[in-house]
Amino acid sequence: MPNTRSPLLVNLRDALADIDTASLRRRRRTTESPCASQVTLNGRQVLAFASNDYLGLANHPQLVEAAAEGARRWGVGAGASHLVSGHSAVHEALEDELARFVGCEAALVFSTGYMANIAIMPALLGRNDEIFGDRLNHASLVDGALLSRATMRRYPHNDMAALADMLNASSARYKLIATDAVFSMDGDIAPLPSLLELAERHDAWLLVDDAHGFGVLGPRGHGSLAEAGLYADRIILMGTLGKAAGVAGAFVAGSRTLIEWLLQKSRSYIFTTAMPPMQAHILLNSLELIENADDRRRHLSALIARFRDGMAPYAERLMPSTTPIQPVVIGDNAATMDIAAALLERDIWTPAIRPPTVPAGSARLRVSLSAAHSLAQVDQLTAALGEQLSALNARVT
Ligand SMILES: *Cc1c(COP(=O)(O)O)cnc(C)c1O
Repeated sequence: MPNTRSPLLVNLRDALADIDTASLRRRRRTTESPCASQVTLNGRQVLAFASNDYLGLANHPQLVEAAAEGARRWGVGAGASHLVSGHSAVHEALEDELARFVGCEAALVFSTGYMANIAIMPALLGRNDEIFGDRLNHASLVDGALLSRATMRRYPHNDMAALADMLNASSARYKLIATDAVFSMDGDIAPLPSLLELAERHDAWLLVDDAHGFGVLGPRGHGSLAEAGLYADRIILMGTLGKAAGVAGAFVAGSRTLIEWLLQKSRSYIFTTAMPPMQAHILLNSLELIENADDRRRHLSALIARFRDGMAPYAERLMPSTTPIQPVVIGDNAATMDIAAALLERDIWTPAIRPPTVPAGSARLRVSLSAAHSLAQVDQLTAALGEQLSALNARVT
């Protein structure tokens, strides 16, 4: 018999009850089909606006075939970390291709974006240094900053004047500015040219997390920096390969010197098993699809415009986003959960995002659009959302 009265477990049970009271319990929904615009949940077909599979590649037949081919050619496991014996020619080819793709000298592949973000700052900075991060940065950038032991300063979202003041006041040895390129829960875009200007003026690194721009923005999907036309040695570009690229993994790209340093110093690169080489093979195929997906990106833009048009009567709940991330802000945690549940009743899946993922009082439905959606599916979403929001407005007023 387990001892269920240990104070350790009693404390956890109490804390879980508190989470319930605040409508903050997180639950997973278990899908029974591949990632696509329609998925099976509890045996029911639902229309999903919930993934980051912006180009609809996660279940693309060419990538499924590449997975089989990659496994036949390379087996399924790398067997060791990159620096021991797990680094293969296909990893090398992927790094070369990623560097070319984003227009940098070199790239280093990581197993996940989280692991890439906790690698960079600890490798470059220490106790006497300072990191300046946007208040809405992804949690992995926050964790990377904490691991580095550098002083972390957070500036108000996209507020360049506040950032300039912080930089002016800093006497740190090394400085680094960190930002999401496309903010993951708001969908808006960081002022990258201004950030680079400030980084240059203060001789700081500029770390750009392009998890949501890679594959979606810029010519041929080359990402947010390509869209803004920015290149500089002080830029550290982090991109992820589990969103628009449809697979999993991540990379850091930049100058050859930077990448060599990260290879020497990144603990989450060195002390972990290399991504399966078959995955690198799939990703090479995915990069080719991304570069030739202008039609998908055009369709995605049309879906974004259609969504915002359809939501025009409720424009005050939208955010200034031109990307496939289209939050609908509700505010209250319980109300957000209720609307998400009501939509699911009607076979529409929009995830409810609550604190601490977003600031308190700004709970929202995070609608994400994918090239796999049709205009008619977006119309179905805006019609159902409109009903819920007008009912909510009637309750509030
Ligand atoms: C998803 C995400 C990450 C983490 O990437 P994974 O590959 O999923 O670990 C990092 N930064 C941002 C902004 C993200 O949205």
